[in-house]
Amino acid sequence: MGDVSPPAQTHPAATQALLAKLGPQVVLTDEAACFAASFDNMRLSFMPEAVVRPATEEDIGVTLKLANDHRVPVTVRGRGTGTTGACAPIKGGWVIHLDHWDKIEIDPVSAMATVQPGAITAHINDLAAPHGLFFPPDPSSVKHCSIGGNIATNAGGLRAAKYGVVRDHVYALEGFLPTGEKVRWAAPLRKFVSGLNLRDLWIGSEGTLGVITKATIKLSVLPAARRTFLLAFRTDEAALEAAIDLISQRVNPSVLEFLDIQTVAATEKRRGQRVFTDAELSGSAETHAALLVEIDGHPAVLADDAAKVLAWAKRHAVAFRAPEDPTEAEALWELRRTCSQAMFALGDAKLNEDVVVPIRSYVALLRFTREIRDRFGLATPTFGHAADGNFHVHIMYDRFNPEHCRKAEQAIREVMEKVVELGGAITGEHGIGLAKSPFLTLQHTPAEIGAMLAIKKALDPNGILAPGQIFEPFNVWEHRPIKVTLPWDKH
Ligand SMILES: Cc1cc2nc3c(=O)[nH]c(=O)nc-3n(C[C@H](O)[C@H](O)[C@H](O)COP(=O)(O)OP(=O)(O)OC[C@H]3O[C@@H](n4cnc5c(N)ncnc54)[C@H](O)[C@@H]3O)c2cc1C
Repeated sequence: MGDVSPPAQTHPAATQALLAKLGPQVVLTDEAACFAASFDNMRLSFMPEAVVRPATEEDIGVTLKLANDHRVPVTVRGRGTGTTGACAPIKGGWVIHLDHWDKIEIDPVSAMATVQPGAITAHINDLAAPHGLFFPPDPSSVKHCSIGGNIATNAGGLRAAKYGVVRDHVYALEGFLPTGEKVRWAAPLRKFVSGLNLRDLWIGSEGTLGVITKATIKLSVLPAARRTFLLAFRTDEAALEAAIDLISQRVNPSVLEFLDIQTVAATEKRRGQRVFTDAELSGSAETHAALLVEIDGHPAVLADDAAKVLAWAKRHAVAFRAPEDPTEAEALWELRRTCSQAMFALGDAKLNEDVVVPIRSYVALLRFTREIRDRFGLATPTFGHAADGNFHVHIMYDRFNPEHCRKAEQAIREVMEKVVELGGAITGEHGIGLAKSPFLTLQHTPAEIGAMLAIKKALDPNGILAPGQIFEPFNVWEHRPIKVTLPWDKH
């Protein structure tokens, strides 16, 4: 089952006071509710003392004020798809769970949506589509994650290079300071430069600076047409160099996903079938690296871009598919959708990183992952968003093998050091949470971390919101993940 930690501190008097104020419908203390709110996709469980499911905004203010009075740790939870443990209540205390706050209002004239934080991101798109609009950020978890979680992590996704990350699509936020006062940052307006921009400070702050209760987000015009291409390359380097060449053609693809040979091999193993046939690969039995490309836009522009992509594919790829039929195009996505789960064919557990490197360092990063694989004897399948350099480097290992764990720990540190040496970022979309806290000092100077902590102290003087997250180095290896099947595991 893994480790289920009891709360690090207990605050029975404060929890009783909270129950007395908000009632047992809002304040849940049973083991099942506490367990369900104790972990995210990182699967390390830390039991809270209570789960608060607010009925009104006032409930949130009351909870935070009481937490400050009694110094109770509070963690905010969206839908728990985070991969870094950021919504896990590592210090116990209370979890504010907002998945039932899921109202979505579309304003088609202003091309905006006003949303409650628990709304599932894909549902926003379901309601925007009939108006010819969409919310472009699309983490692969889009059918499961919440918009509140997306804002708190500044989520990215497959289409970020063309359309931007969540930060580029937020007009206004409402919510509560850690001290319990209601605030509104900016307004549902296309322009707003009054005062300091604390809206952007909240975006990506991983639930450490406030509780988001409402957001006004920007919707964009839904592209009228799309074309999808899947290409095979003999080497990882050839695929990456082709990706860089496509970027230089100024085509601006909406999706440019790279899958290295290890990733494609894992997917082929899981499916029991090759991605490209022997005939397509001119009789070659070797697994090839792949690029999945999508272009979108007005049909007239798309035809021009499609011609450029086809010419590019002929120049670089060993084989490619470019179906015009949307159903056939949809089938090409199967490889990308299944690759994350397929990796378990290479190891019992994985470290899943989301590093970013500059375009000129793509090949250097990939070669380094293979060097790590050969030196440590652990598979390092890597795939990701080649248009913005955001690569998911994985280290596969056996979690019950202490030697594997020791090697994986060393291997991931070396990857992080290399990324920083290449001028990159230790995280491009998942955030720091617990998982990457040991590497924060690789990325930031003491002065930078000091400035972040000064802001945290100013907004949260008693340190009650998300304590233990981001700034305290966390040792992942001292904890055993729990064994649970989560809704997104099935894909
Ligand atoms: C299969 C899979 C694929 C994924 N693919 C991507 C991807 O392509 N791109 C990407 O960016 N991420 C991806 N993720 C990670 C994850 O889905 C995102 O980080 C997502 O934004 C988290 O949303 P959530 O609702 O699950 O938040 P949670 O996991 O519940 O919380 C995440 C953080 O947000 C904070 N938070 C949540 N709600 C609020 C609120 N109302 N106010 C203040 N803080 C809040 C929490 O405290 C925590 O710090 C993936 C995850 C999975 C499981």
